[in-house]
Amino acid sequence: MMPERIGATVLSGSRNVFTVRPDGGDRNVRCGLKGKVLKGHDDFYNALVPGDRVRIGVDSGEAEYGLIVGFEERKNVFSRFNQKGGAVQLIAANIDLVVCVTSGASPPFRPRFIDRILLQADIAEIPALVVRNKIDLERKGDGDLLDADERLEDFRRIGYRVMPVSSTTGEGIPELGELLRGKRSVLTGQSGVGKSSLVNALEPGTAVRTGDINKKYDRGNHTTTLASVIELSEETWIIDTPGIRRFVPTGIGAADLILYMREFAPLAGKCTYGLSCSHRHEPGCKIMEAVHAGAIHEDRYESFIRIFDNLAGKSHVD
Ligand code: GDP
Repeated sequence: MMPERIGATVLSGSRNVFTVRPDGGDRNVRCGLKGKVLKGHDDFYNALVPGDRVRIGVDSGEAEYGLIVGFEERKNVFSRFNQKGGAVQLIAANIDLVVCVTSGASPPFRPRFIDRILLQADIAEIPALVVRNKIDLERKGDGDLLDADERLEDFRRIGYRVMPVSSTTGEGIPELGELLRGKRSVLTGQSGVGKSSLVNALEPGTAVRTGDINKKYDRGNHTTTLASVIELSEETWIIDTPGIRRFVPTGIGAADLILYMREFAPLAGKCTYGLSCSHRHEPGCKIMEAVHAGAIHEDRYESFIRIFDNLAGKSHVD
């Protein structure tokens, strides 16, 4: 008998075994990958990621195992450069929203991590949202409120939405839930900002982790932690990205960076030295003038310089 061919969405996977959810189904199928399916898409650190659309061949509608036989072009892909692996690492595909969780209180506020996530969302043309969790702590005066306030206000100023919430008190959680409803969102943020607590606050007790969590796989001398899908409802998925400590953007060259940082872009090419300006010491540099005039936050400028060096391959630290 010819196997059935059905559409499915990837929930998780490593290099060659994937967990997929057939369209309209409510159970998962473990699939191998037929050779050549990813021809032209196989030069990444990893092959298929949560959100990828595939066609699978299964022996019957009830089968637990199948084979991925087809792959649909991605609408978008959220990725990063994996410095250890020396390759682009795909994180999730066909995403509606990138959610960057931060906390003005503990762990220490890291705005430059947010800069990198938002930049990657803009490169991938995926809408992004900053969630400021743990506002209950800030109220109590435990957090570095001033620093976080100023920088988060600047994110608003340049056009990003910043939502204050507390997964402990529930403040802002209904609004966040409303925003996520019906979307596939990637959840990012440094460890400890409260990503898991947020998921639990959004859907107490019912959040099902449908992928394999914290599945590690080896490739050479390093390991990585994979993204996994948390299903809040049939249409609402959160793709968790555990263990990303350092985020190096990918998909653009250093020279294009200025075009992808929102408040920098209108100044591209306007410096005295035009496009060859390094924005570090040249007279007539419009970027440095904007920093002095307060139109570009000096910490965003610091981010720009560091990301530029990452993209130019000059630096391995962020
Ligand atoms: P993750 O590493 O981003 O998944 O962070 P967790 O969800 O594990 O949270 C890290 C710590 O922060 C835990 O001790 C949580 O109880 C605490 N936490 C999370 N959200 C909040 C919040 O809104 N307010 C307070 N006060 N603590 C929180």
